[in-house]
Parts: sequence; C-alpha cells; structure tokens
Amino acid sequence: MTDLKARLDELEELGLSRRMRLVSGPQGPRVVLDGQPVLVLCSNNYLGLADHPRVREAAADAAMRWGVGTGASRVASGTMTVHRRLEERLAEFVGTRTSLLFGSGYLANLGVVGALAGAGDAVFCDELSHASMVDGCRLARAAAVPFRHGDVEHLAWQIGRVEPQGGAICTDTVFAMDGDVAPLAELADLARTHGLRFVVDEAHALGTLGPDGRGLVAELGLEDEVDVVIGTLGKALGSYGAFAACDGRMARYLVQAARPFACSTAPPPPVVAAALAALELLAEQPRRIDKLHANAGALRDELAREGFDVAGATTQIVPLIVGDAPTALRMCEAALREGVFAQAIRPPVVPDGTARLRLAVMASHTKSELRDAARTLGRAALQAGFRPGAGMPMAEAHQLTDDFAALPAAEAA
Ligand code: PMP
Repeated sequence: MTDLKARLDELEELGLSRRMRLVSGPQGPRVVLDGQPVLVLCSNNYLGLADHPRVREAAADAAMRWGVGTGASRVASGTMTVHRRLEERLAEFVGTRTSLLFGSGYLANLGVVGALAGAGDAVFCDELSHASMVDGCRLARAAAVPFRHGDVEHLAWQIGRVEPQGGAICTDTVFAMDGDVAPLAELADLARTHGLRFVVDEAHALGTLGPDGRGLVAELGLEDEVDVVIGTLGKALGSYGAFAACDGRMARYLVQAARPFACSTAPPPPVVAAALAALELLAEQPRRIDKLHANAGALRDELAREGFDVAGATTQIVPLIVGDAPTALRMCEAALREGVFAQAIRPPVVPDGTARLRLAVMASHTKSELRDAARTLGRAALQAGFRPGAGMPMAEAHQLTDDFAALPAAEAA
C-alpha cells in the first residue's frame, strides 16, 4: 500500500509537488491570487471570453430558463433543447454532420478513444498527446501503441510492426505543453492507407487557429479525412464541457459505446448556453483571434529579446524549457513575487529533464503587459539560477521524449 506521507514528502523534495492557489473574482488576464494582483500567463482562456458580459448573461439566463442541473445522463432523462442547439451549432462550426456533447474534454477523449478499438485492434497515439487521450488508449481493449512525438516515420514503423486488424490513430492537433502542431496531413494519409480511424483533439486549436477559429483541421482542409474531432468548451470558448464532432453513424455508435457519455450526467444548461454565446461572439468579433496571434508574436519577440529560445513556438502557447523541476519551480516563484503568474510544468506531465514554464497568451492581454512580463521572466530566470540563453530548444526537448513511456507497450496490451 502507498505510504501517503512518504510519497508526499518525496514529491516535495523532488520539486514535483502540486500546489493550488486561491483566485478571488473571475478569471481574466489579471487576477488576485492569494491576495496579490498578478498578470495571468497560464490560463487557456485564450480569447478572454470566460468573464465576457454576454457569456455571463447567457449562462444566467439559461439558469433561469432551464435550471442548473440536468439530473441524469441524456440516455436516462433526455436531451434538453439547449443541448441540441449547441450540438448543431458546433457541427456547423467544425464542418461535420453532427456532434455529441460530453461533460469535459477528459471524458470525451476517454469515451471516444476507448470506444473505437477492440480486441485485435491497435490505437496509435502521439506520445505527447493529452493524458485523457492516453487514458482512452488504455481503456480501449486494444493494443495501445505510442509513436514518437510528431514522427510520421516512427508511426509507420509501429503500424508495420503491430499489423493490427483495425483501430485508430490519435493525436492532439496543438500540443498543450509545447504549443507545436501535429503533421495532420501525413497522419491522415497513414490512417487512410492502413484502414485506421483518425481521431484528433482540437482543444487548443478551436477558437485560435484556422478560418474563423475553426481549428487546424479546417485550416488544412482535412475535414473529410478525420473521423472524430474532439473539441473543448472550457478553453478559448470560455465555458466548460466538450464535444465529439463526427458523422451521424459515428455519433449513434458513441451514444451506445462511449461510457463517459452514457454514464455521466449531461452538461448543465448554463455552461451549454455560455458556449453558444461564445460561438456567437467568435463569429461577430473575429478580430479577437487576430489579437491573440499578434499578442503571441509580441510575447515571443520580447522573450527573444531577453535571450530566451522561443524558436519552436508557433502558437499562443510558448514553453520556456529550463530542464529540471526545482529550477522551474524557483523561476515560477520568482516571477510571482514580481506579479507574473506563469505555471511551472514538471514531470509526469512533461518528460523528465524538460520541466518548463508554460506561457499561454490571451487576446485580452495588452502589448505593454506582455513586454513587462517578458522582462520579469528574464529576471526570474536569473534569480532561479538559469541563464535564458541556456534554454533547451524544443527540438532537443523532443529528443528526450523517446523514453516517455506514457502508454503501456503494445506487447503488454
Ligand atoms: N485535451 C487537451 C489537449 C487538453 O489540454 C485538455 C485539458 N487541458 C483536455 C483535453 C481536457 O479537457 P477538459 O479540461 O475539458 O477536461
């Protein structure tokens, strides 16, 4: 049995202990954190919609109109009209026939990936995909086979080695901790050639990439190549929950086979209505997306000026890879003392030796806030005993992921 105290002490000593801080008031580009005003650089509220007045009003109105709780799963007590409306709107947005709401992105990945492969099949998953996708692979009664991050040749080799009857290729489109993008067109080719389904998680791309924020799949024109697009409502869309966008037959199958859909309570009307309002705002104000990209570029430039290596970053997520966990933690604390909240991300979320500060930009930041934050981070790095120029380039960090055995080996499945 795990000795809880010993394990907690050990995590503390290794600089791997997680700590939660108290935010007073709504989430925004600035918050009061443990009583101190700070600039937030670690939220996925990319478009600043989480506290937008229209999103709040939509949630409040929905609570008055439809109540708060749904009482049961939809297979038990029925689909409410507001669920149906959001599913139609999301399908239209992503470019699929239909979509199915889930309680969260975690549940959606668990349900979809877990349902799509059976005995004799294999699920091939990029090793840096989100934990929920990895757990979905574990749940599937199929061989769970990781492939090296973004490495299409390694995936092809793995498929040849395993020779599955069927199954799926799964990947995030924008990687949450690295901010880089998957080689979607090549992965789609492999899926088609080998008769595998193709499942992508657009959690960090929806609302941020592609025409009108419709995601990386839309940007690359791959709508017809993907079997299921997972999207989340709790990031750029400022609400909570998630969806799987797909064709009608797939959706009917998921209702039968995805246990997190059928066995958990349907999303509350206020968060569903809030996501509808966020989609409306996105359509009316596409400049929010332009602002997000401009801000991401500005932060990268300012960080480069401070000597940080940001060459691998192309999206609103900018990792500063410092290497070991205690250094990342010291840098995070030093930045916080100067009013910048940039979370330290450490193993097991990222591979050993690649601890980092994961910076996430918002459309609602100002350029001067980002410039000041970059300077603060430069000073924080030095205080933590880390010279910005000594940062690990992303390509080097990805070499270190070779042993990131997030998935059980195919042989063991
Ligand atoms: N997929 C990715 C890529 C994520 O980063 C996350 C969470 N940050 C999820 C899925 C889970 O989504 P949710 O927070 O809605 O459970």
